[in-house]
Amino acid sequence: MGTETITEPSRRTPVYGEFDVVVVGGGPAGIMAAAAAARAGGTALLIERYGFLGGAGTAGGLSTFCGLHARTYGADVRVIRGLADELLDRLVKLDGLNAPHLTIADGIAAQAFDISAYKIAADELVTGSGARILFHAMAVGAVLAPSGSVDAVLIESKSGRQAVRGRFFIDASGDGDLACWAGVPWEKAPPVDGMMYPSLMFRINGVDVNRAGPAPWRTVERLMDEAEKAGTHTFPRKKPIVRPQRNPLEWRANLTQLRRADGGAIDGTSVEELTRGELIGRQQAHHAFTFIRDRTPGFEDSYIVDIAPQIGIRETRRIIGPYQLTEEDVLGCADFDDTIGVNGWPVESHVAGTVEFRWQRRERGFNQLPFRIILPGTRADGRPAANLYVTGRCASMTHGAQSAARVTGPCFVMGEAAGTAAGMALSAGVAGDAIDVTGLQRRLEYQGAFLGRSAPEAVL
Ligand SMILES: Cc1cc2nc3c(=O)[nH]c(=O)nc-3n(C[C@H](O)[C@H](O)[C@H](O)COP(=O)(O)OP(=O)(O)OC[C@H]3O[C@@H](n4cnc5c(N)ncnc54)[C@H](O)[C@@H]3O)c2cc1C
Repeated sequence: MGTETITEPSRRTPVYGEFDVVVVGGGPAGIMAAAAAARAGGTALLIERYGFLGGAGTAGGLSTFCGLHARTYGADVRVIRGLADELLDRLVKLDGLNAPHLTIADGIAAQAFDISAYKIAADELVTGSGARILFHAMAVGAVLAPSGSVDAVLIESKSGRQAVRGRFFIDASGDGDLACWAGVPWEKAPPVDGMMYPSLMFRINGVDVNRAGPAPWRTVERLMDEAEKAGTHTFPRKKPIVRPQRNPLEWRANLTQLRRADGGAIDGTSVEELTRGELIGRQQAHHAFTFIRDRTPGFEDSYIVDIAPQIGIRETRRIIGPYQLTEEDVLGCADFDDTIGVNGWPVESHVAGTVEFRWQRRERGFNQLPFRIILPGTRADGRPAANLYVTGRCASMTHGAQSAARVTGPCFVMGEAAGTAAGMALSAGVAGDAIDVTGLQRRLEYQGAFLGRSAPEAVL
């Protein structure tokens, strides 16, 4: 591909609207950020490139919430509360939430959901909180004020190019898109021996539950291992996750691993690599499904009911804020004075050919998440991005910490904190890093959030 550029004619860009808080990205972090910002009393707009919310949970076809629970002193307890309670309640009313199940060698709880129900529940939570949603709009750039604050986000859609102005912005794009355009510091692990590999999720339907037996996911893993040892098959990764959904006729399959030609991880910020990932992901899905259908009792009449709309991206840009959460913080169950919630998920690192798990060393089983990880760092020219928070999987975490706190539960936490804090910054007329953190903690706890400063309630 050539490196030449063309010069576009300059143009005047129509303004779509002006909002107190503008959130880019409608994954778990963005859903909570928009809902919390609207509840804080201002106008809030959530910009999402697809026609539905949920992020990797829906567009990436995950269909399981991880990180809602921690294994704390031997008990599986829900540690993600606050707005997450309302979302889960809505899912229950839609009959779209399984009871928690144990996963990763039965070491921690996760909770499967119905993807369509999640889309509806997220719509309801965001709009019911008073925020507006703009679907089918891709944020493509930012306009900065001379001070370094973000003035507007540029969007592209079927309506053309428009600008969305805001008083405060929250980057919940997962990839740190807005942070990158705003010029704040970020990093990305190298694709070879660095960044986590993406996967393309798919779901299988038509499983004969009675023939499949009580724990057929173990059968699938064993059969795949045996086939590899016998040399008849090779699979892109070890430790496949093949588990039943709410209706056990339907199963989700998480077993692909998407690589570049040099063996490195597909980079979710490269459109060429994303394209390659989709193509090889569907081939891998077809190959693995055929094996499962032909070898696993109960799967004889099954079929692929859905391949996720896009490959699931685990890691790309992570900002470098005033504090980066580290893997040691996760494994050592660290506490922080500026806690905004907790992460109980272990390190789950998708490395070449397999998945590595590293567990918390303390019985408490969760670390606190400091407010500082949603704050952008200082630019090289010293100008602050005073009206920007960066939340979710692109927050300020090292590669190792992100391998744990990227899952849905902690992303809910970071999103709710960012939306609530943005409202406080606007009310107080201060920069994002100058809010009263004790006041934020009080508000979050009032909203029902668990900040990890006491023992969690025994809620499953
Ligand atoms: C294959 C795979 C399996 C996983 N399995 C699980 C699991 O079982 N359970 C679990 O809890 N977690 C799982 N994860 C982790 C999951 O990525 C996170 O839980 C979570 O979705 C990250 O949330 P987020 O809001 O930070 O970002 P995302 O979920 O990535 O959401 C970002 C949102 O922003 C939108 N967006 C991005 N850029 C723009 C833009 N420029 N303009 C407009 N919109 C934009 C995207 O469309 C998306 O909706 C998995 C991840 C992958 C990839």
